[in-house]
Order: sequence, then C-alpha cells, then structure tokens
Amino acid sequence: MDVRIGILISTAALLLVAGCGLHAPASLSQATVGVTHPDADGTSLLIRDALVVDGTGEPARRADVRIQGERIAEVGRLDPLYGEQVLDANGLALAPGFIDTHSHHDQDLLGEPTALGAVSQGITTIVVGQDGGSHFPLSDFFQQVEQEGVAVNVASFVGHNLLRYLVMGDDFRREATADEVIAMRVLLGRELRSGALGLSTGLEYDPGIYASTDEVISLAREAAAKGGRYISHVRSEDRALFEAVDEAIRIGQEATIPVQITHMKLAMRSLWGRADELIDRLERARSAGVEVTADVYPYTYWQSTMMVLLPDRDVEDREAVEFAIRELAPAEGMRLAHYEPEPAYEGSTLADLAEQLGEDPVTVFMDLLSRAVEEEAAQSVIATSMLEADVVRLLQWPHANVSSDGQLRGSHPRGFGAFTRVLGPWVRDGHLTLEQAVHRMTGLSAAHMGIDERGTIRPGAYADLVLFDPARVADRATPEDPHAVSEGIEGVWVNGVRVLDAASQPTGATPGRVVRRSSDAEDVR
Ligand SMILES: [Zn+2]
Repeated sequence: MDVRIGILISTAALLLVAGCGLHAPASLSQATVGVTHPDADGTSLLIRDALVVDGTGEPARRADVRIQGERIAEVGRLDPLYGEQVLDANGLALAPGFIDTHSHHDQDLLGEPTALGAVSQGITTIVVGQDGGSHFPLSDFFQQVEQEGVAVNVASFVGHNLLRYLVMGDDFRREATADEVIAMRVLLGRELRSGALGLSTGLEYDPGIYASTDEVISLAREAAAKGGRYISHVRSEDRALFEAVDEAIRIGQEATIPVQITHMKLAMRSLWGRADELIDRLERARSAGVEVTADVYPYTYWQSTMMVLLPDRDVEDREAVEFAIRELAPAEGMRLAHYEPEPAYEGSTLADLAEQLGEDPVTVFMDLLSRAVEEEAAQSVIATSMLEADVVRLLQWPHANVSSDGQLRGSHPRGFGAFTRVLGPWVRDGHLTLEQAVHRMTGLSAAHMGIDERGTIRPGAYADLVLFDPARVADRATPEDPHAVSEGIEGVWVNGVRVLDAASQPTGATPGRVVRRSSDAEDVR
C-alpha cells in the first residue's frame, strides 16, 4: 500500500496533477504530460520548489526532486508527469534523511516501530550497537527488523562488551587471555558477516573497562580485515580524556582502521575551554594518516549510570565521589533519571535529595549507588558537566557529525530533540550554516559510517528525505518533558515512503531497511 495517498497535508499541498494542471508550471504543455513519460506504476512523487540542502555541504538551491519507488530519480527543474503526485514545498528546505551515528533508538523499536522520537527529529537511519553493546546474534535482530517492519533504517556495530561477556562471562575483571581474544575474534567475524558496520567499544563500562589496549587492537584488526570500522565511547571522558583519545588513535593506527570518537565531549571542569587542544590532537593524528573522526550531541548534560563516575568501581571511596561531584557532575545538575530501588526519587536532583534527607550530597550519592549495587537494580542519572561553548566548538570541527545518543522512551531530551536543536536554534545562532549543519547530519555521517547510497540528495540515492521549515524548526524536548515533539519538521520519507506527516504524526508506514556494511572486499574466508 502506498501510504502517501490520502494523507492530508496542511502546509504543503499534496495533489494529483492528472487532469487538473493547477500547479503545473506555465511551460508545461499537455503534449508532454503523460505522453513522453508515462508513469504507470503510481510510485512517482515530485516534491516541487524546495530549498534543496543536498547533504554535501554545497550551497542550498531551489529545485524539484522526483522520487520513484525507493530512490531519488531526478533533481532539477522538473515538469510533473502524467498521474504523478506533486507536493509543493513552497520553498521549505529538503535535506537527506538524518543518519544518527550513535543511537539507542533500537530500545523499544520493535514495540514502537513508528519510532516517533527518531523520525520526528528527521532521523531516517539509526546506527546502533553502541558503547560496546549490541544485539546477539545480529542476524536474528536484523531478521526481526525486516520481518516486523520499522519506520527507520537500522545499521549496527558489534559490541566489544558483548563479545567479552560471551567469552569471559562473570570472570571479566581482568585482561583476556590470548585464547579468549581469539574466541572473541571468531564471534566478531561472524557478526561482521551478518553485515555489521564494525566494532564498537564502551571502555568506560564493564566489562570493557578491564580490557587492555592490545585486546581492542586485535579485535579492531579483525574488523579492519573485513572492511569494518571502529567506533568508541572512549575509556574516559573526564579524568583521563586525552589519554583515552590517544588510545583510540593508537588503535586506529595499529589496526589500520577508521576511528570514530563517539559523543565526544569535555566532561570535567578542568577540561572546559580546551576544545581546540583536543581538536589539534585529532588533526595531528589525521596528518599522521589515522582516519579519526567524531560525533557530538548538542547538550551540556549526559545520561549514564552513576557508576560511570567511578572508574575504580569503588562505591566506598569517598574521595573519588567527592571529586566526581565537585569536578564532573555537580549535585544541582545531577538528576536521577531512573532509580529502580526508589522510583519516587526519579526526577529529583542529587541536591534536592540531599536536602530532603538531611545529608550531604556525597553521602547521598554513595548510599544511592551502594543500594543499587546491592540490589542489582538499574539506575541512571542525567548530569550537567559540559560547557556549551565547547560542545559548539567540537561540532564545528569539520570531521564531527551530529549524533543523538538517544532513546525512544528515554529521559534525556536528545532522544527527541538532538538533530532539531542543531538544525534550528544552533543554525539560527550562527554556530553552523544550514548547509554545514545538514552535512554534519547526512553526507558526512554516511562517510563516517561507511554507508553508501544514503546521506545526499542525488539521482540514484535512496529517497530518505526530510522536509522542514528552516525559520521554525526547533527542538522542544527538555529534561522535564523529554518526549516533546520538535517543531518545523514537515515531512519525512524513508526509502521513498512517507513516515511522518506535516503535523509531525507518524503515518504508520514501516519502510525501514537493515543497512549492511557494503565494504567486505578483503574478506577472503
Ligand atoms: Zn556512550
């Protein structure tokens, strides 16, 4: 079924040109309509008079875009075909669908296949399997996605923490033996053959935190041999950030693999203002031949577990907790997003709870975390620990693309607003031009992920498209209301099928595909 038909569009009129000629340009003669280009299959859609921001970073231009089936057929000044649907964009911007290079939108995706949080901010491809965690086996997950149907395209990395868990089980607080590394490589190879984009690590988390750099290099070599890539939540984003970045670069160098430093940030007071120093480091590595890139989400606060603040994993280490709350995540800016042992605490900041309980924030933090550990209960916090000027500067680096790190039902607003926050407010504030912003969500992201045929508007590419109003587009999600839908997104298409209407409502269509690694030329097995 073609779900485009019959959908009412408020700001951009959808109409059949056949026989009416209402929106036909003056030059359109009846002789050309339907005679030279019959459109018998009915899948053709002409989006007319859009401000095409094509994803390459080149200047936007007014043009028409024809979609036929799942692909873009033509771009230029185009006359409607006989029987073709025409959507008048009236100068609204048309960009390639956004590629989210660090997504957790796969959580709950099969239960919520319309993926509102993702598509309502213009995301058409989610790259999951991040931070060292991935579905296993990927072939099953991919099959489920394809059979059940989802609105977005899905690509995945293979998680190092998963591999470690599969091979080492609970005995992971140590380096892996040579045999264990071989076993991980075998599993990785199998997952890569299912079409994974490469290897992901989450070296700040268990069990990856206990891995040696050599272990990761060995696995990265396996990925490189199959044309895969490496994406890393690096070992430290605060205390030892620069060492962690050096480690990622070394892995890229020794395994000869492209490296993406994912959700790159300067998450400690004493690192604030040092974005240029970090960029210099990355530029030096690039000059030395390491293909290092990054992605950034546009918020000064992150969401993770409380334990991530304690790299030595010692809940009793009062000094470490004091340091964390002073330098990394101040009590007023640390909000409990999820706390299984005491759900009533959710939404409160550590400062609120300290006041409520009549204790100091350090003690409260230690008590909360100890209890969660004892009860093996889930918990997470949203914590402010970045400076906006740094976040902006990092995203301005020409090798940084936008990511969300978001979820469909998460409590961080990035799940609904990361891309629209950059596309609207950040562009209007002059942090990036519209073309630069779109490039960092599309063409650049595709290049960083090794995804072909998506990320630019050109004939032959898949018709993943976002129609939006550059003057109005904005995120609305906040920590208090993290599922507020963005404004100004007027339509989203995935593989030529409309998934979001002009009122930012899902159409119910689920045309998403699994996006598999295209490069496997070196895989000789
Ligand atoms: Zn992460």
